[in-house]
Amino acid sequence: MTRATVYVVGAGLAGLSAAVTAAAKGARVTLIESAEQAGGRCRSYFDASLGHVIDNGNHLVLSGNQATEAYLRTIDAADRLTGPDHAHFAFADVTSGERWTIAPNDGWLPWWVLARSRRVPGSALGEYLAIAKLRNPGRGRRISDVIACRGPFWDKLLRPFLLAALNSEPETASADLAAAVIRETLVKGGQACRPRIASPSLDAAFVAPALAYLKARGADVRLGQRLRGIGLAEQHAARLEFADGPLALASGDRVVLATPPWVTRDLLPSVSAPDEFRSIVNGHFSIAPPAGVAPMTGVIGGTAEWIFAFDDRVSVTVSSADRLVDTDREALAQTLWRDVAAVCGLGPTLPPWQIVKERRATFAATPEQAAKRPAARTAWDNLVLAGDWTDTGLPATIEGAVRSGQRAADLVLRA
Ligand SMILES: Cc1cc2nc3c(=O)[nH]c(=O)nc-3n(C[C@H](O)[C@H](O)[C@H](O)COP(=O)(O)OP(=O)(O)OC[C@H]3O[C@@H](n4cnc5c(N)ncnc54)[C@H](O)[C@@H]3O)c2cc1C
Repeated sequence: MTRATVYVVGAGLAGLSAAVTAAAKGARVTLIESAEQAGGRCRSYFDASLGHVIDNGNHLVLSGNQATEAYLRTIDAADRLTGPDHAHFAFADVTSGERWTIAPNDGWLPWWVLARSRRVPGSALGEYLAIAKLRNPGRGRRISDVIACRGPFWDKLLRPFLLAALNSEPETASADLAAAVIRETLVKGGQACRPRIASPSLDAAFVAPALAYLKARGADVRLGQRLRGIGLAEQHAARLEFADGPLALASGDRVVLATPPWVTRDLLPSVSAPDEFRSIVNGHFSIAPPAGVAPMTGVIGGTAEWIFAFDDRVSVTVSSADRLVDTDREALAQTLWRDVAAVCGLGPTLPPWQIVKERRATFAATPEQAAKRPAARTAWDNLVLAGDWTDTGLPATIEGAVRSGQRAADLVLRA
């Protein structure tokens, strides 16, 4: 008798995580991806105009992201995320020139808010109660329904943190999603907030080791193969349809559909899915950062929001960037470079640059969109969903994608 197969469609982090989890449990896995490379929205590639490998966008993980940590441990890539032993975040205000560092202490008792050298300059102690209020906000509310979105703590720390985590304007974003992030990071103390950056690239941390892990376990990885349709019987998926013909599912075969929401809706129109998205713009500058520049700096008062300093480049992230996506690329590069130059102490001449615009980077993290997220289980008993947009309880993040993949694999293997 032939062994049943777990077919995972989509090799973004959700699909990779599902495939790795299933393979780790001894399942026979086939991973199918439409693009010629795996990684989806978390990928790296050689950029000819810069002459080196860049990531589509800077990705920050926090040490409290436990599913991500487990995934990296499984694929033997835990050492590919780098960062400090204790949480600290450098900030620079490009309008006033002010600089400061936020340094939550390791333990859960947040005494750092009492220490002027560790907290937001000019902030009052009472402002930090916002964290407690956001822990359990009540369902379906916006952040501005729960806390006052003003004051130095909001402007200089909580807002930038939530903007990055939710990729949506924090005031109108879902308080539930903010709460989920806060509970798993800030509330647990500095040890859960240590910044972690993929080194030397996203691919080297999250993608290549996963593909190597799968191949070593005999998985069949098929790139450049787009799923065009799913043949459905009453209660189960009967076949997967590709350009070169259908693939009939045998009894016992399972499918994890880890495609983006718009693709999943085309394949399965009855599935509910978020349909509003937010973009992210990244600027990459081919220049070695001067000595002493922090690996990551939060920028206040500029267009750039976070500046990441790598050995061979400086990269800038702007979240919820719909206002910028139609801006001329060179003008955008000039604008972002002004912020980089001010923060890193560099001259005004623009080095070789690249702008990467991800128009549908994540779903809009509003209460309305969050309510459209589907569960992993579907109406078809051999078909489950995965993806950062499914109902993970988290915003669209690496942690959410990886967790959804782990859960999808658990569900299909249990079935
Ligand atoms: C610029 C940017 C910056 C980000 N920054 C951060 C960050 O700092 N921290 C963080 O935690 N998260 C960040 N994210 C979010 C993170 O990248 C995503 O949450 C995660 O990568 C989503 O993974 P996924 O597998 O759910 O979806 P995707 O990555 O979209 O994977 C879906 C896969 O399905 C494939 N596919 C589509 N259609 C088909 C088909 N018909 N047949 C077969 N395959 C198909 C796609 O090619 C893709 O590979 C960022 C995202 C972007 C774009």
